[in-house]
Amino acid sequence: MTSSMTSNVLRTLLLLLLLLPALAACRQETESGIISRKLDVFGTIVEITIRDADPRTANRAIDMIRADFARMHRDWHAWKPGELTRLNAALAEGRPFQASPFLLPLVRRAKTLREMSDGLFDPAIGAIIGAWGFHADELPKGTRPPLDRIRRLVALRPSMVDVRIEGNTVSSRNRAVQLDFGGFAKGEAVDRAIRRLREAGIRNAIVNAGGDLKVIGSHGDRPWRAGIRDPKDWGIIATVDLASGEALFTSGNYERYREYEGIRYAHIIDPRTGMPVEHIVSATVLHTDGALADAAATALAVAGPHDWTGIARRMGVRLVMLVDDAGTVYLTPDMRRRIVFVKKPERLVVAK
Ligand code: ADP
Ligand code: MG
Repeated sequence: MTSSMTSNVLRTLLLLLLLLPALAACRQETESGIISRKLDVFGTIVEITIRDADPRTANRAIDMIRADFARMHRDWHAWKPGELTRLNAALAEGRPFQASPFLLPLVRRAKTLREMSDGLFDPAIGAIIGAWGFHADELPKGTRPPLDRIRRLVALRPSMVDVRIEGNTVSSRNRAVQLDFGGFAKGEAVDRAIRRLREAGIRNAIVNAGGDLKVIGSHGDRPWRAGIRDPKDWGIIATVDLASGEALFTSGNYERYREYEGIRYAHIIDPRTGMPVEHIVSATVLHTDGALADAAATALAVAGPHDWTGIARRMGVRLVMLVDDAGTVYLTPDMRRRIVFVKKPERLVVAK
């Protein structure tokens, strides 16, 4: 063995010795580290962040969630061709429809949520939502739809009450019923994603759909912390620490709306009038049931500053925060105890 060979071997050995701890650390880092992936459903980017899990387990769970989301995007979409649009075509023609086990639970849930919200949340008003131009990726510009067209649709009184479910057959006695699950599908999607993660044995994760989110476990030695967006300026108005299994959903007119002659028309519609909600600019609900939180946030925006407490009680949600167009923040007493304001609200009303 020549001396240069010896020194080469020694150098390699030395390098290996130096690298070993680094390699070990690296593996530990991925094992106990953070895995984060972005998926798309209903045009919203959903970020899944997983802590302290085996990367293969985590990635396999995320792949399953991706497949779930693809199916939801296709079959629960209110205006893109899929199972829901086929169901809507059948309802408009007065035909019964055999719903798949993937769609049927949503129709059932829509009926329950309508009942719980006293009709303020009613996914049967798809035709009215469409008439306002919200069944499009790009929001419409220009004049609002003629109000007599909206009034005509409202007079037909489409409602989930008209929808019958027998076995897996869905029918409606009212042909004006068109289903639009946009008010709770994101909640369902987030609930199902968290369920997949749990089934895979993942203990610490957050599924965040553009600020609407659900968590399990914690963020290391502290709870997951969520921000509640200030509807006025996209900043954070308050934060809240979430316990394992809790979801936080916000509905507002600050993100999806059409504007005409300086007036904002929100994509949240009052089923009683067919008109977009006005006074509430954002409604936030915290609950372990993400779909309920999502629907309740929409319903409470419709209920408005005077009626929201009764609807919250009826829907079984105790953690609520609303912001109105004057900047007044309304809170349930339980929510008052949970949130931490980052900015002082203009005015604070804690409900009894
Ligand atoms: P976001 O999608 O911004 O989180 P929401 O959860 O409030 O907001 O959902 C709004 C969507 O819900 C609308 O785009 C429409 O599809 C549907 N929707 C609007 N008004 C109602 C209502 N009163 N009841 C049921 N669904 C509604
Ligand atoms: Mg909602």
